[in-house]
Amino acid sequence: MRIFLSGPSGVGKSTIIREILKKNQDIVLSVSYTTRPPRRGETEGKDYFFVSRETFETMIRDNAFLEWAHVHDHLYGTSLAWLESQEHQGRHILFDIDVQGVRQAQEQETPGWFIFIIPPTLEELSNRLNKRGTEDEQTLNTRLNNARQELMAWERYNYLVVNDTIEQAIHDIQSIIDACRCSRQEAIGRLPWLQKIA
Ligand code: ADP
Ligand code: 5GP
Repeated sequence: MRIFLSGPSGVGKSTIIREILKKNQDIVLSVSYTTRPPRRGETEGKDYFFVSRETFETMIRDNAFLEWAHVHDHLYGTSLAWLESQEHQGRHILFDIDVQGVRQAQEQETPGWFIFIIPPTLEELSNRLNKRGTEDEQTLNTRLNNARQELMAWERYNYLVVNDTIEQAIHDIQSIIDACRCSRQEAIGRLPWLQKIA
C-alpha cells in the first residue's frame, strides 16, 4: 500500500508522520534524495539521502526516480530502487512528497491513496514556519509564497485533512489509513482464497 501525504511547508507533515509511524509498525517513510542541505537534527538515510546536484542529475539521467521535482529551490526525488527494496520486504510506504511529485505519480497511474494536509489559515501556516525557526527569511518567504500555489492542487487528492489541532489531524489520518487497509484493492491481496471462489 502506498500512501502519499502532501501539504505546504510548515503545515505539520513531519510532526504527523512521526506519530503515524509510531502507531503503524508495518509502514515506513519513503526516504527521498535531495540536494537540500541537512537541517540541524536531520539524519542521513533516515530523513533524506543528501546528495550533490551532480549526483542527483546523474540519477535523473539513469531513470533512478519514480518521480522528482524542483521544490523551494532544491531537487527532491523518490528512488525506485529504494522503493522496490522496501516493498519487496512487505512494507507499506508513506510518501511525503509535493504536489508536482503527486502529479507525476498519478500520470504514471501509480496505485495509492492521496492525502492533502491543509492549514487552518494561511496566517497560522506562517506562524508555524516562523516558530519552527529552521529557515532564513528568504527561504521562509519562498515557502510561504509557494503555499498558495500548492493549496490550489487540492482536487488531486482523495482526502483533505485540516491540521488544526495535532491530535485531531493524527486521528483523522489514522482513520483514513485504517479505511485504506480495508479497501477492496488493498484487502483482496490478503484474501487469496476469496479470489479463487468460483
Ligand atoms: P512540515 O513537515 O509540513 O513542513 P512540521 O511538521 O515541521 O511541518 O511543522 C511545522 C511546525 O508547526 C513545527 O514547529 C511543529 O511543531 C508545528 N506544528 C505542527 N502541527 C501543529 C499544530 N496542529 N498546531 C500547532 N503547531 C503545529
Ligand atoms: P523539506 O525541505 O521541508 O523537507 O521539504 C520540502 C518539500 O519537498 C515538502 O513539500 C516535501 O513534501 C517535498 N518533498 C520531499 N521529498 C520529496 C520527493 O521525493 N519528491 C517530491 N516531489 N517532493 C518531495
